[in-house]
Amino acid sequence: MRRFLISILLLSAAAGCEANGPADAEIGLAEGVTAEDLAGRVAQFEPAVLDFDDTVLEPWEKTVIVKLVGASDLMHELFAEQVSAENEAWGEELAGLSGPGADAARAYFEIMVGPWDRLQHDEPFLAVGAKPAGAGYYPADLTKEEFDAWVAAYPADKEAFTGYFTVIRREGSELRAVPYSEFHRAKLEQAAGLLREAAAAAQNATLAEFLRKRADAFLSNDYYESDVAWMDIADSRIEPTIGPYEVYEDGLFGYKAAFESFLTVADAAASAELQRLKDYLPDLERQLPIEDRFKNPDRGFESPIRVVDEVYAGGDTRAGVQTTAFNLPNDARVVEEKGSKKVMLRNVSRAKFDKILTPIGRTLLAEELAAQVAFQPWFTNVVMHELAHGLGPTTVTTPAGERMQVNRALRDHYSALEELKADVTGLHNLTVLSGQGVFDDTFLRAAFAGHLADLFRAVRFGASEAHGKANLIQYNWLREKNVLQPAGATWTADLGAVMTAIRELATEVLTIEATGDYERAAAFVARYGSVGAELQSALGRLNGLPVDIRQVYAVREKLAGWN
Ligand code: ZN
Repeated sequence: MRRFLISILLLSAAAGCEANGPADAEIGLAEGVTAEDLAGRVAQFEPAVLDFDDTVLEPWEKTVIVKLVGASDLMHELFAEQVSAENEAWGEELAGLSGPGADAARAYFEIMVGPWDRLQHDEPFLAVGAKPAGAGYYPADLTKEEFDAWVAAYPADKEAFTGYFTVIRREGSELRAVPYSEFHRAKLEQAAGLLREAAAAAQNATLAEFLRKRADAFLSNDYYESDVAWMDIADSRIEPTIGPYEVYEDGLFGYKAAFESFLTVADAAASAELQRLKDYLPDLERQLPIEDRFKNPDRGFESPIRVVDEVYAGGDTRAGVQTTAFNLPNDARVVEEKGSKKVMLRNVSRAKFDKILTPIGRTLLAEELAAQVAFQPWFTNVVMHELAHGLGPTTVTTPAGERMQVNRALRDHYSALEELKADVTGLHNLTVLSGQGVFDDTFLRAAFAGHLADLFRAVRFGASEAHGKANLIQYNWLREKNVLQPAGATWTADLGAVMTAIRELATEVLTIEATGDYERAAAFVARYGSVGAELQSALGRLNGLPVDIRQVYAVREKLAGWN
């Protein structure tokens, strides 16, 4: 029925009857959405080429990439189906659309992977009605109550119903959990075939092992072994991540995993730089700006991090705002056994640095500060943030005398404070390393100037999310200490004084974590965690700047030149 409606609307748009006036310009779009408005939403995403170095690739590596690009496209189709069973038909109808708003409708549909705006709480921008909370994973009319009642009545169904890798369907008056391997059989067989072909070409045994086991998982619906094999990929330039992973698309329960793919290649120089930084971690733990009794010199420093360039991506991760890093797998059994792996996407970070962070710096920082912002110091700071998550207190004694993990002690304030800790401890660590001659003064100052631009970038989307709040606290702290100062329409700072203030903030947040003091955490967040009028007006000046990038994959052209 909904599809019929959109067809009629689009048909009249194709007729493009000028005499009918502006009403026609809004045809096919959701009520209240104009062609102009939609074009503006598309323009929030600045096109950026994601390139990588293919001159170093062996012929077999190119073969693996060709196969995995194909498999990634299948992940994308599968994800589009998970968003809505009607996505494919809507996409076909949009392809035939002409008239005002047609290009914008197609572009935004592609960016959002569907007709709902991921930047506006999933409001529809096409006239298709509201998005079901459970996306395409459940019957659109299924309520939580009905689901819960079924599981209560049939406890034997619970595991399958709440599992990551099943969809829920109606069969007559009954509900049934259908494994992905059955429900998406045809596409998963194709994907498994491509992974096996890639494995056959691969001259790295650990890479081949992952690809073969993942192919098996697509057909068996059991992902455990292949998640373990993913953790074991070693000495491979190609680092693929492919399968069902995150559960955010399931807004009903957060049970169902969305298909996605990150096809990436490691960069030797970036990996060497990362290893060099990791070697300093035990020393950096000893030099944390907290009392010695809170330091944790025996903790492990070995969680794997990769710095890679994204060659191609598909599915969940390609929709809406692009991620610059991910941490997988999600299966707690694998994490217990093997830990998890953090993958940082350098070229995606670079694109966001060029298209978003640099313009923000030019808009809100005084010229001499903005001029110091540079990619490599900024990116090293991002890496230091990730490494800093692995430093500092873990198990703590609360004021009530209980021993517990710091996240249990700080509860709802933990996420924001842990992000804050990683930011300011990472920055502090840069100053320590700089003092040891690892970085020079220009690099250090550039990293801090880039971080100041980042404060505004992160706060731009609100302080409800952990990273936003962590940056807001830093902004308010630096303003309170008056080391970040308004200068006309911009901000200026004495970077040396900023470094001191950041170290003091690191002492504060590390001590809150080390003492597991929930009351102190709550008071601290209440004092520094809100957006004042001064900051609000600054953020208003960013309105015309892009919100995110729109990926243009260089591999698509490169493929044509590979033989
Ligand atoms: Zn973090």
